[in-house]
Amino acid sequence: MIEVINSVSDWKQILADKKNIKSIGFVPTMGALHKGHLSLVEKSVEENDLTVVSIFVNPTQFNDPNDLKNYPRNFDQDKNLLELHNVDYIFYPDYSEIYHDNYRYKVQELEFSKKLCGASRDGHFDGVLTVVMKLLNIIEADTAYFGEKDYQQYLLIDGMVKAFFMKTKIIPCATIRSAAGLAHSSRNELLTHKHREIAPLFAKLLRSNLSVEEIKNELNKSEFKVDYIEEIGSRRFGAVWLGKVRLIDNVELGREQNDTMS
Ligand code: AMP
Repeated sequence: MIEVINSVSDWKQILADKKNIKSIGFVPTMGALHKGHLSLVEKSVEENDLTVVSIFVNPTQFNDPNDLKNYPRNFDQDKNLLELHNVDYIFYPDYSEIYHDNYRYKVQELEFSKKLCGASRDGHFDGVLTVVMKLLNIIEADTAYFGEKDYQQYLLIDGMVKAFFMKTKIIPCATIRSAAGLAHSSRNELLTHKHREIAPLFAKLLRSNLSVEEIKNELNKSEFKVDYIEEIGSRRFGAVWLGKVRLIDNVELGREQNDTMS
């Protein structure tokens, strides 16, 4: 039976009682789980003695109050899915448990976090890094799994763990996409029917041979509003709006894509 843990002290008690567990795998999420999240969960369950999934919609990483308000939440369905996937524990804290300091303390990265998503989402990565550091310190996992769909986030978290000599190993996991190529995302639920139909064009253009400017032009011809399309190193990153929903994606350039369609 899956067990739901709400407090840090309850989790620390479980850790103390399970001293002989060889490896703990951890998948941090904001819930509204889909096939992308579940691929991380499956990897953790396969590679560890025990798997913990956290569900916490982290307010400090939302720069838009409406986005936070409308973010999909579906705890009962998430719990059933995780139980079916043999997860051992769900860590499901409330705001005051995580932010008993009222966010007086935060973790910042000063360079890469200002680019791409950080350029238009002020404070977003401060919120992400702070909550992930808190969660990694709470769970004390050996390994934590993050999706390449949020590649900038993965790089920043991996950098933070190394900068602060934290013990958890960070594992990147391939992006899971729909058959049409759209990366699964909790925010896809908020797309209108019409926008859901055109959304896959974003992924298709990102992985095309077109230049950055040509991709922007093609997106602008349709209903997309481009936040950014940028190439950094061997990756092409993009963020677009479809109505009120912001979608992000990225692809590795010059290589057969190994993402999974499902
Ligand atoms: P979120 O609930 O959006 O914070 O995502 C939790 C974790 O799932 C993050 O590490 C994401 O990168 C990962 N994730 C979200 N969507 C996908 C996807 N389509 N494929 C792989 N990983 C994903």
